[in-house]
Amino acid sequence: MTAQLIDGKEVARTVHKALKQRIAALAERGIQPGLAAVLVGDDPASATYVNSKAKACEKLRFYSQVITRPSETTQQELLKIVAELNNNPKIHGILVQSPLPKQIDELAITLAINPDKDVDGFHPHNVGLMLVGRPRLLPCTPFGIIKLMEHYEIDPAGKEVVVVGRSNIVGKPVAAMLMQKGPMANATVTVAHSRSVDLPDITRRADILIAAVGRPGTITPDMIKPGAVVIDVGVNRVEAPETDKGYRLVGDVDFAGCAEKASWITPVPGGVGRMTIAMLMVNTVTAAELITS
Ligand code: NDP
Repeated sequence: MTAQLIDGKEVARTVHKALKQRIAALAERGIQPGLAAVLVGDDPASATYVNSKAKACEKLRFYSQVITRPSETTQQELLKIVAELNNNPKIHGILVQSPLPKQIDELAITLAINPDKDVDGFHPHNVGLMLVGRPRLLPCTPFGIIKLMEHYEIDPAGKEVVVVGRSNIVGKPVAAMLMQKGPMANATVTVAHSRSVDLPDITRRADILIAAVGRPGTITPDMIKPGAVVIDVGVNRVEAPETDKGYRLVGDVDFAGCAEKASWITPVPGGVGRMTIAMLMVNTVTAAELITS
């Protein structure tokens, strides 16, 4: 491997450390940041994510509440839970874990969350503020990607960034953040997706390549420019009967192959995923500061 490793665990620790002062300042005012996670249904990956988020809260001594509901939960019932959390003064951040069951309109739920408590940064109010360059609560995964680059002094200014994937939670916001005028931005951004023609031709232009597709092996070594920075957002379960769990997690990037050609690369696990949770903690503190200021 010739690439240097972008270590999400290490950077997440640094982010937590930096947060301690802000948590102490809130404590002096008698405020304990509070996060509520709502989990609907029995998707095992979602349960794992919510569990990791609750554990991170415990580590930082946040007030944490996990609300679980069965997959038959109606939209009305979920809206009622959100309304209660909006009015709960102990809760500063609300996250509703996706995917939601089919009968529930995710956007309706996002719109119901008080934008001041929108620690996922998905509410159109916060998305709009980000787009006009007045960020308040940023979506956690893109925010984490920027923090990773900042930590390793990978400045995107003037660089060609290619983002593969255009979801509302990763692809679109990370592209929007990197094209802003300002520090850790000013990049020239291309967004590719399933309808892009000749993906390898596009990705080979990237000084910084961000893969957020959800398909193992999407990015192979022939698709990257020598010396590129490769950020793998993908989290995919692949069968591994030899392991206790019967599966292992891999990203969208052929890690072993691309690590021979890239200058920097994120592992999966231990890369972007760690940062997503760390930035959720940052957003919870920001929300607590916002709401109580
Ligand atoms: P979505 O399924 O919402 O979006 C996937 C995107 O990839 C779509 O824009 C789709 O294009 C595009 N795509 C699909 N196939 C191809 C292809 N062959 N070539 C080019 N583009 C393609 O996924 P998410 O953004 O929610 O998540 C992406 C991955 O990141 C998943 O593995 C997810 O688990 C992971 N993830 C990880 C997080 C972390 O903390 N590490 C956080 C969030 C997600 P189109 O729009 O045309 O359909």
